[in-house]
Amino acid sequence: MVRFAKRVRSIEPSPTVRLSDMIAESKAQGKTILSLAIGEPDFPTPAHIVDAAKKALDAGFTKYTPAPGIRELREAIAEKSRTENRIPAKPENVLVAPTKHTLFMTCMALLDSGDEAILPDPGWVSYGPMVTLAGARPVPVRASDEDGFVPTADAVAEAITPRTRLLLLNSPSNPGGSVYSRAQTKALADLAVDHDLILVSDEIYEKILYQGEHVSPASLDGMFDRTITVNGFSKTFSMTGWRLGWLVAPPPLFKEIAKVQEHTITCATAFVQKAGVAALTGPTAPLEAMVKEFRARRDLVLRELSKIDGLSTYTPSGAFYVFPKVDGMEDSAALCERILEETSVAVTPGSAFGAAGEGHIRLSYAASRETITESVRRMGDVLRRR
Ligand code: PMP
Ligand code: GLU
Repeated sequence: MVRFAKRVRSIEPSPTVRLSDMIAESKAQGKTILSLAIGEPDFPTPAHIVDAAKKALDAGFTKYTPAPGIRELREAIAEKSRTENRIPAKPENVLVAPTKHTLFMTCMALLDSGDEAILPDPGWVSYGPMVTLAGARPVPVRASDEDGFVPTADAVAEAITPRTRLLLLNSPSNPGGSVYSRAQTKALADLAVDHDLILVSDEIYEKILYQGEHVSPASLDGMFDRTITVNGFSKTFSMTGWRLGWLVAPPPLFKEIAKVQEHTITCATAFVQKAGVAALTGPTAPLEAMVKEFRARRDLVLRELSKIDGLSTYTPSGAFYVFPKVDGMEDSAALCERILEETSVAVTPGSAFGAAGEGHIRLSYAASRETITESVRRMGDVLRRR
């Protein structure tokens, strides 16, 4: 009998990835499932980015690159971080890797067994398992509907113990679509200073913003030295399958995290990095058009949901998710299964995002307007039978 390590026995498969694979498999078998399940822009990767990858392939750019990434991409990311995010980044602070891997490496480099990492609840499905894989303990902090899905400084302060090492923030957030205000970000950053914590800021939805401003904690006074900023190309440039992202870290943190990269993936895919340069330095019109469409879809999905009596939905300010409350029904996993079976519409149960996510379902509106309208109409038939 194979005996598996406790670290993998302690985690479950990714519910979002599983659901995504299941939908792809069903489609391959000719079944028609309407999906609002996946956090993946449904737009093509802009042509100038694809062209840059093709050119790099034709030019034979297919070998190892320096472990932290090619110089021109690290320069472009540092420049973007300085001008758009006011993070005082130099190319030497930039480590290029798939976004998920940047978060995993951060956990591996900073957490020991017995350490604790504070995470927003509800929060993205993979934060907890990454902390667990690093041998540490995830500590979810409730970021409730009433608080607009932003963890309050009071709730975080209460969760801090002498073992707390990391505080993870995610704005705009998955699944709530919340955008932390400057004051909220500052209050959380102050806690990191007071308790000598490292702040990990996942900013992957930075550009999918409808209201408010995007504040990078690493731009706040004195915070650069204790903040790891994570970002990526998946959402902004509709590049989920390219597996490209980055982190920005001060030198001592960078040095330790880079060792994990060297011993795991060595470097990000060479020609994909060239596409990353094109994405960051090329025209912004495709991004602007995508965000405009997401905004219209957000309004559409909210309008359609409002037709279902008794359903309350917090208005998201960013990302491409809505997270309506469906309490008073069976648990969210059973409900989503029933919606799928009875209506062929796939949505994600709130419980996938933590205990505080229970009583909700997540709808991703990275889908066509027709799919959104028809899916919510069909779901409504199930939800009205509450
Ligand atoms: N952070 C959040 C909040 C996400 O929703 C995701 C999923 N795309 C990631 C990180 C990981 O991104 P990537 O697919 O680029 O690794
Ligand atoms: N982040 C996306 C989601 O929440 C993609 C799947 C994943 O990586 O978890 O649906």
